[in-house]
Amino acid sequence: MGRYEIVLTTDRTMMSNHHGKEFLGFMATGPAIGVPEKLWSWIAAPKIPVDEEGKPREAPYGMRKVEAKLIDAGFKAAIIDPDHLHKHLDSMKILMIGHHDFFAYGPPSSEWWSITGKEPLNRVSFKRFMESPAVRRAKEKGVRIIVGGPAAWQWLWELELWHKWGVDTVIDGEVERVIVDIVEKALNDEPLPDYIYIGPRDSPSIEEIPVIRGASVNGLVEIMRGCPRGCKFCSVTLRPLRYIPLERIREEIRVNLRAGVKGAILHSEDVLLYGADGVKPRPEPLIKLHDMVTKEIGEKGELAWSHASLAAIKYAEEKHHLVSKIMNEYVLNDHRRFLGVEVGIETMSPRLAKIIMPAKSAPYPASQWPDIVEDAFRIMHENYIIPAATLILGLPEEKPEDVAMTAEQLDRLKPYRSVIVPMFFVPMGALKKNKWFMRDHVTPEHIDVLMKCLHHSIYWAEDIINKFYLKEPYLLPVRLGLKLFIKYIKWKVNRLRPQIEALLRK
Ligand code: SF4
Repeated sequence: MGRYEIVLTTDRTMMSNHHGKEFLGFMATGPAIGVPEKLWSWIAAPKIPVDEEGKPREAPYGMRKVEAKLIDAGFKAAIIDPDHLHKHLDSMKILMIGHHDFFAYGPPSSEWWSITGKEPLNRVSFKRFMESPAVRRAKEKGVRIIVGGPAAWQWLWELELWHKWGVDTVIDGEVERVIVDIVEKALNDEPLPDYIYIGPRDSPSIEEIPVIRGASVNGLVEIMRGCPRGCKFCSVTLRPLRYIPLERIREEIRVNLRAGVKGAILHSEDVLLYGADGVKPRPEPLIKLHDMVTKEIGEKGELAWSHASLAAIKYAEEKHHLVSKIMNEYVLNDHRRFLGVEVGIETMSPRLAKIIMPAKSAPYPASQWPDIVEDAFRIMHENYIIPAATLILGLPEEKPEDVAMTAEQLDRLKPYRSVIVPMFFVPMGALKKNKWFMRDHVTPEHIDVLMKCLHHSIYWAEDIINKFYLKEPYLLPVRLGLKLFIKYIKWKVNRLRPQIEALLRK
C-alpha cells in the first residue's frame, strides 16, 4: 500500500547514478551505436538501489529540491523509482515528472539524432515510460500529471503527445516559489493552467530554496544559481545570481554521505565565481568552500565541478595561483587523481564570440578569446583538471570564416587532456526565435570541425580511460564496453574516410 499523495519520478535515463560516473550519463543522449540497446542502456543508466517502497537511494537533484519543498510544506511526497510506481497507485493524486531532455531536443541529443537519424536513448526511454502501464493506470484513475525541469519548453514542440498522455500542467522555470500553490490547487481539483512560465522576477530567494531530504545523483549539490555572463544562446543567464551559504552546502553534502554517496559534485554555472567580485574569482570564498567540502567527503571522496568558465580559470590562476592552490592543497591526493568539469568553448572565432557571448571572456576582451581558451586548457592540463568542452555549430550569426577559424584554432588545444563535444545550435535564451541547425545545414567547414573534435576526443578518451577513469575493479565491464565503443568509432571513421575527404574537398 502506497502512502504518498504526490509521487515524483522520471524515466530510467535520469533515475540512475550512471555507475557513479556522471559522464557516462551522456551516453543516454545518443542512440545505441555498435552495441545492442540493452547494453548501451546499462552502460549509460543502470538501475539504482531502492528501498521497499521503491524510493531510490539517489535521485536527480532538481527533483530532490521539489520533494523537499513539498515535504517542508507538509505534503506526503516522495521520489519513486519508475519501476515501482505501481506500488503507489492507490494513494497517488499527483504525479510529477522531471527531466533534463524529455524529447531529446536539447544539445547534444538533437545532434546525435540529426547525425545518426536514430532517436536517442533518452527520448526512446521517456516515451516508453510515459506509455508504461503504471503511468497509464495513474491517468485513468484521475491522477493529475505535472511535468517540469530544464527541458519543460520541449513540450511546446510535442503537443500531440502532451494531449495523448494527459499531461495537465507544464512548469518552466525555478519552481520553489510557486509549487506549493500549484499542488494545493491540483489536490483541491481546481483547474490548472496548461503552461506556467516562471520568469526571473519570480526566482526564489536563498531562504526559499530548501535543503534536500534525500541523496542526489552522485552527490551533486548546488553552490550558486544564475550566471552573470549573458551569453545570447543560454537561458540560465536570465536568472539572478545567488550564492548558497557554506552551511547549507555542508548540510546537503551530509545528507548525501549519510545515504552512502561517496563524494560531491559542486554544481554552479561557474564554480570559480562562487563568492566572486563580479566575474573576478576571489581566493577566500573558494578556499573556504574547498576546505569545507574536502573535509566533509574525506580523502577518498570523489569530487567534481559541474561547470567552470575558461576566463575564470585563467584569471583565478594568473592573478592568485588559485587553481593550482585548490588542486594541490585540497583536491589531489592518492585517491583523487583528477577533477572533471564541463566548460564552454562554443567558438574559436573572436568575431562570433563578440556577437553571441561578449562577456564570456570577461574580465578579458572577447578579441582574445582563442588565447583565453588555450591558456585555460593549459592550466587545467597542468593541474589534472579534465574538461569536457562544448562547441556550438550553426549559431545564427555564424559565417563560414568563423567555422574555419574554429577548425584552425582547435589545433592549439591538441596537447591538452580533454574531450571536445561539438553541438548543433538549439534555439534557447535570447536566440530562441531562431532556426534549429540540422544535418542538412552542415558545410565542409563544419565537417572539418566535427572531425577534429572526434580525433581529439578519441585520442584523449583512450588516455583518460587508461590513466584515470573507471579504475574501480567492479567497473571493469563498463570500461571494456567503452573501449569497445571507441574501437568501433575508429573503425567506422576509417571506413567513411573517403566520403569525408570528398566532402571536405567540395
Ligand atoms: S557562461 Fe555559461 S551559464 Fe553563463 S550565460 Fe554563458 S553559457 Fe550560460
